[in-house]
Amino acid sequence: MKIPALALTIIAILGSSCAKPPPPRTEFVMGTVCTINLGNKGTEKLYDEAFARLRELDALLSANSETGNVAEINAAAGQGPVRLADETLTVLSEALAFSEATDGAFDPTIGPLVKLWGIGSGNERVPAPEAIDRALALTGYRKVSLDRGTRTVFLRDRGMRIDLGAIAKGYAADEIARLLSDRGITSGIVDLGGNILVMGDKAPGKPWTVGIRDPRTSGGNPIVSLQASSASLVTSGIYERFFVENGKHYHHILNPATGYPADNELLSVTILSTKSIQADALSTSVFLLGTERGLELISKFPGTEAIFIDRGLGIRTSKGLRGRVRILDPGFTLHDDD
Ligand code: ADP
Ligand code: MG
Repeated sequence: MKIPALALTIIAILGSSCAKPPPPRTEFVMGTVCTINLGNKGTEKLYDEAFARLRELDALLSANSETGNVAEINAAAGQGPVRLADETLTVLSEALAFSEATDGAFDPTIGPLVKLWGIGSGNERVPAPEAIDRALALTGYRKVSLDRGTRTVFLRDRGMRIDLGAIAKGYAADEIARLLSDRGITSGIVDLGGNILVMGDKAPGKPWTVGIRDPRTSGGNPIVSLQASSASLVTSGIYERFFVENGKHYHHILNPATGYPADNELLSVTILSTKSIQADALSTSVFLLGTERGLELISKFPGTEAIFIDRGLGIRTSKGLRGRVRILDPGFTLHDDD
């Protein structure tokens, strides 16, 4: 009996020295830099599986993919209904619900305008007003017929184009968290280009600390931090994707009422929610609506909170975050007395 016990000890020791967890994995997927960090529970197999699922969702939901479900829907615009994959049905239904909730400010049929502006494509420029009018005529979520019975969707006019860029990463983060949790993971970070989802706590009883970057530059330093467990934080802002023409700044969140980038008092808004799909859709929606209407909107979604950073470098939070945010940069002022 002694020998097998000794053999086991050796295997256990070898096992522990060989099984050093791999480092967090970073890949370019969904048009952005994605990192998954599972700490000492990470394995190559888990990372492989998670990134394979991300690539699959990207192919399915991206308006730019050649063969995906959304590409198929767009190609059939004005011609006929297209059958929806489960994932597309879920994300498109959610997107249309946010269109209803925001009076059309959030609009997944924004595709023709996104394509026209080309922000982030390398070919961006301010379009001619007539071109904006033509693209505007091809947007409007009310022209989408979604049939849950037959699980099909039909875009009324030829040239219409669904773009799920404001919600797909949130959905993908939830999906990855679900996959990892099914594999027994209880703690980790899923970061899809700044769309953050933290699973559980960092360590037992110790929440994660999440930072919000300076919204005045791309990849700026963290200026606010807060603690979170089992939550998603998603930011929409003017420096995520943008270009400058004749000294004027144009960013990628477009107002479907004007055809131009949303222009209000905000530099960025961050939404905290247990569901990343909700945080993602709300961050874009609230950014479009501005602080006051944005606060009204999130009050309709129990458990969601918001952090607004305005052009005067003021920071406001929804009530549930009072006393929970820490300002790291003295250039910003917290107004949480109103
Ligand atoms: P990011 O993609 O940088 O994380 P958002 O989640 O705010 O930021 O999404 C912005 C993207 O959403 C744009 O790049 C575009 O694809 C799409 N979009 C732009 N304007 C709207 C809008 N009014 N409604 C819905 N989606 C939009
Ligand atoms: Mg969004």
